[in-house]
Amino acid sequence: MLTIDSLAHSLDNYLEPELIQQVKKAYLFAEEAHTGQTRQSGEPYISHPLAVASILADMHMDHQCLMAALLHDVIEDTGVPKHIISKEFDSQVADLVDGVSKLNTMLFESRAEAQAENFQKMTLAMAKDIRVILVKLADRMHNMRTLDALDGEQRRRIARETLEIYAPIANRLGMNNVRVELEELGFRALYPLRSSMIEKAVNRARGNRKEVVGKIQESIAQCLKRYGIEAEVFGRQKHLYSIYDKMRSKRKSFYEIMDVYAFRIIVDKVDTCYRTLGAMHNLYKPVAGRFKDYIAIPKANGYQSLHTTLFGMHGLPIEIQIRTPEMETIANNGFAGHWLYKSTEESPNHIRAREWMKGLLEIQQSTGSSLEFIENVKIDLFPDEVYVFTPLGDIYDLAQGSTPIDFAYAVHTDIGNTCVACRINRHLAPLSATLDSGVTVEIITAPGAQPSPAWLNFAITGKARSSIRHALKHQQLNESIALGGRLLNRTLATYNTSLEDLPEETIQRVLKDRKAQNMDELLSEIGLGNQMAYVITRHLLTLETDHQEDQHGPLAIMGTEGLVVTCARCCKPIPGDPIIGHISAGRGIVIHTDTCRNMQDLRDKPDEVMTVRWDPAVNHEFSVELRLELEYEKGIIAILASTITNEDANIEHIGMIEKDARLGIVNVVIAVRDRVHLAQVIKRLRLLKSINRILRTRN
Ligand code: MN
Repeated sequence: MLTIDSLAHSLDNYLEPELIQQVKKAYLFAEEAHTGQTRQSGEPYISHPLAVASILADMHMDHQCLMAALLHDVIEDTGVPKHIISKEFDSQVADLVDGVSKLNTMLFESRAEAQAENFQKMTLAMAKDIRVILVKLADRMHNMRTLDALDGEQRRRIARETLEIYAPIANRLGMNNVRVELEELGFRALYPLRSSMIEKAVNRARGNRKEVVGKIQESIAQCLKRYGIEAEVFGRQKHLYSIYDKMRSKRKSFYEIMDVYAFRIIVDKVDTCYRTLGAMHNLYKPVAGRFKDYIAIPKANGYQSLHTTLFGMHGLPIEIQIRTPEMETIANNGFAGHWLYKSTEESPNHIRAREWMKGLLEIQQSTGSSLEFIENVKIDLFPDEVYVFTPLGDIYDLAQGSTPIDFAYAVHTDIGNTCVACRINRHLAPLSATLDSGVTVEIITAPGAQPSPAWLNFAITGKARSSIRHALKHQQLNESIALGGRLLNRTLATYNTSLEDLPEETIQRVLKDRKAQNMDELLSEIGLGNQMAYVITRHLLTLETDHQEDQHGPLAIMGTEGLVVTCARCCKPIPGDPIIGHISAGRGIVIHTDTCRNMQDLRDKPDEVMTVRWDPAVNHEFSVELRLELEYEKGIIAILASTITNEDANIEHIGMIEKDARLGIVNVVIAVRDRVHLAQVIKRLRLLKSINRILRTRN
C-alpha cells in the first residue's frame, strides 16, 4: 500500500531533504483536514491525494506541485480557505490548489459534444500556471483508475469528460502515456460493450500475427547488425481506443487497421537515427510520400522522431519510428518529460517549462505551422481571452476585460441593441461588470429598448462599439426627424396649413435654399435645433410677418422622446413644474424649469426659447435632487432611505456632503413621477425628528 513514507522514499533520488520535509508537512496538513472523510470505495480520503502526488512524483515534478497534489481537495472538500494554505505553506502552492479547485467548479456535464474543444481551450486559459493542469491530469488519472466505486451515471459522466476534455489536453501537452491511459480507461467505462468486442478481436488477430511480427522484427535486427548499429526494436501495440477512433473517424475496417505492422527503433543519437533510416530503406522499399522528419522539424508539442512506411514481405505495410531515448521520453511524457530530463539543473522547473514553451512558439513562428497546441499554450502564457457561456451552454471567446454588453453584441447585434439588464451566474449584475472565464451570462432584452451612449464607456470589443455608435446615430437621426416634423407642422398649423398642403415646388425651392438634400435632412436640422421651425415656416410661406405665438398651444413633452428632448441637469424639472424649452444647437430641445437661472439670459432670444408644456399622459420617472439638513444620528442614512422608498420613490444617489459632530447635510437624488409624488415624499421626510430643513436643489 502507498504511504507517505514510500512516497518520500521515491523522492529521495531527485529532491533535496528539506523539500521532502515540506512535502511531508503538506501530507500531514491534508490528512488532518480530511480526517473522517472516506472515498466512495470506503478507503480513508487521504489515500486519493497521496496517489495523485505519487503519479506526479513518477514524473519527477517539483515539490510545490507535489504539495499542491496532496492539498488539491482541501479548499473544496474541507473548507480550508486559500489564505490559510498560503500562510501555512507558500502563496505559489496556494495558487496551485486554488487553480485546481476552480477547474473543478466548471461543470462539464450536459454540455454539447461540439463544445469539447472550447473546454480544452478554456481549461488551459484558466490555468495561469501549467502545473495546475498537471495536478488536474494526475487527479483525473487516479479517479479513472478507481472509477469502479462509482455508480453508472457518475461513471459515464466522468468517463465522457475524460475522453472529451482531459485526454485531448494530455495530447496537446504531448503527454502520450497519460493520454493513452485516460483514453483506455475512459473507453472501457463509457462503451463497455464496444471495448470488449474490439479487445477480443485484437486478441484473436494478435495470435495470427505473432509469427509475422517475429519474422519482421528478426529481419530488422539482422539488418541493423550488418550496418553495425546498436538498437532496441519493439513491436508497437495499438490501443483499443485508438483502433475504435480510427474505425469511426477514418471509416476504416478493423482489419485494415490491424493489417499494419508497427515497430519502433531506439538508437543512441540523432546521427544514428538517419543511418538507421537508410538501412531500413535498403531493407524494404519505402512507400512514397510517407517519410516524415520530425527530428529536423519537431511537432509543435516538442515531439521528435523519424517516421517511414515500408512495403514488407508479401507487400505488408510496415510503419517504422526511429528515435533516441531522450526523444522517446519526450514522446511519452511530453511536457512532463521535460522535467524528467532536466530536473538536475539549477533554475526552477516551471520557469524552464515556460522557456520551453516559448521555444515552441519560436519554432512555430519560424516554420509557420499553425498547430492548435501552440494557440492554446499561447493562451496559457499570454492570457488575453475570456471564455463565457450562454445559458444554453454555448461558449463565446471575448477579449480580456469584456463586459456583458460585449457579450450581447457578440451573440447578435439585435440582442445588443435591445439589451436592458443581465445575469451573471444567475445573479443580476451591472452591464459594465467585467467578465471572468467560466461564467454563464444571460442577457435580458426588452422589445423597443435602445442602446445607451453610456455603454461606450465600458464596451471594449470592436463589434460592440461600432454597433452602439451606429445604433445611436440612427436613433438620434430618427428622433430628430420626428421632432423636427412636429415642430414644423406646429408652426405651419398657426397659418392653417401643413407640410402635406404645400406645393412640391415650394418645398424643393426651400430645400435648395437651405442646402438640404431632402425633407428628412431639413426636419432633422430643425429637431436638432440647428434650424428654427418658424424661420422655415416663413420661408415656406414666403411670409414677411413676424413670428407670432401659435394658437395651438405649446409643444407637449412626454419626457420619453429620447436623445433630442432632454431634461436639463441644472434644474431637473419634473411634471407639474412650469417649463420652457431651450433649443440648443446639435442637442435638440433641453427642458428647463421656467425659474431656472440658466434661462434668465436667454429670455429675450425668442429664436432659442420655445414654450412647452407637460403632456397630461406623461408616465415616466424624473430625477430630482433634495438637500436635507439634519441633526446627525447613527443610522440616519438607512432611515432616510427606507422613508423614501416606502413612498415608492427610487433612490438614485445618496451622499453626505458635510458633517460635524451634530449637524449634517445629505444630498439625495430620487426618481419621482411628478410634483404631487415629490410633495408626498417631502411630507413624510418632514415627520422625521432629526430633519431640520428640506430644500429642492436647483442649480
Ligand atoms: Mn481529487
